[in-house]
Amino acid sequence: MNAIINNIEIIKAKTTKINDVDFDNLKFGHVFSDHMLECNFKDGKWQAPKVVPYQAIALDPSAKIFHYGQSVFEGMKAYKDANEDVWLFRPLDNFKRLNISSKRLAIPELPENYFMDGLKTLLQVDNGWIPKKDGSSLYIRPFVFASGGGFHASPADAYKFIIATAPSGAYFSGKVKVLIEEKYSRSANGGVGFAKAGGNYAGQFYPTQLAIDKGYHQVIWTDDNTHEYIEEAGAMNIFVRINDTLITGPTSDRILDGITRKSIIELAEAEGISVEVRKISVQEVVAAAKDGSLKEMFGAGTAAVISPIAGFGYKDADYDLPELDDTYASTLKKRITDIQTNKAEDPFGWRY
Ligand code: PMP
Repeated sequence: MNAIINNIEIIKAKTTKINDVDFDNLKFGHVFSDHMLECNFKDGKWQAPKVVPYQAIALDPSAKIFHYGQSVFEGMKAYKDANEDVWLFRPLDNFKRLNISSKRLAIPELPENYFMDGLKTLLQVDNGWIPKKDGSSLYIRPFVFASGGGFHASPADAYKFIIATAPSGAYFSGKVKVLIEEKYSRSANGGVGFAKAGGNYAGQFYPTQLAIDKGYHQVIWTDDNTHEYIEEAGAMNIFVRINDTLITGPTSDRILDGITRKSIIELAEAEGISVEVRKISVQEVVAAAKDGSLKEMFGAGTAAVISPIAGFGYKDADYDLPELDDTYASTLKKRITDIQTNKAEDPFGWRY
């Protein structure tokens, strides 16, 4: 008999891989836990999810994921505190965003209990995979894709929802040098930039490689229409500090509604930092870099939490940011990670 937890059937792996894992030297997203959650959409509805051994998936060559790119995903983390209690950060926001993404890609939306109960059950089964070490976490990757086949360019009739997890070490990107993009765009009005659609990331790889070839680490995406406003930093939202004000662009068709971004806005305001949500022009950033009022720039996202930017390139010129002792980036990163890992009070009710 297979076990059942939270009404979810569990098919346990016959062996565990956990003894092969060096939990003191984890990279990001390279080893995968013993189990995954699997849920199939067929006959017009989502079938009951199951926890199954982590395994390869067999697909028909005509599966529409391969041809038409119907796929969406999420990224989130589970943390284990000193008492071995397990915490998620705003998981319902990931669930809602997955469905927002699915709707835009004509993928059927998931019921909340399949996502939340499925995730909780998976974490119970693979509890031993959630790292305890400071800075480490279990990275969680929920995704949905078209498994149904046919060469007709239309939505599939079958989908898979899977949650796979990977124990991961602290994500130190170091200080990155970024290139403000003048030609390529990651998103457009009326497009899918606000969705976590797989194809958005495929479209970023080539321009990002061109920037890497020029000696930068990452691209700052600008608006597709004029390339005059900065919008995102790679696969992160972007913040700019001019004098003592923190500025980030408004979410739109083109900018992902990042959970880290909106948490930073609230945390910064609670710290008494003045925050402006408005368009940021490249000219404003360049002028601020020239007159010394540009103090900080950083990316914000689940993987790195906050990734400080050391300098940027724009139109064949490079601009360095100052090296400050006390940064908003380090203050806010500590505040948010202390809440995530149950080291500090959570007045916002974000910890789950
Ligand atoms: N922008 C893009 C394009 C992203 O892929 C991500 C990562 N999900 C983010 C921003 C940051 O979002 P979050 O803080 O929810 O991880």
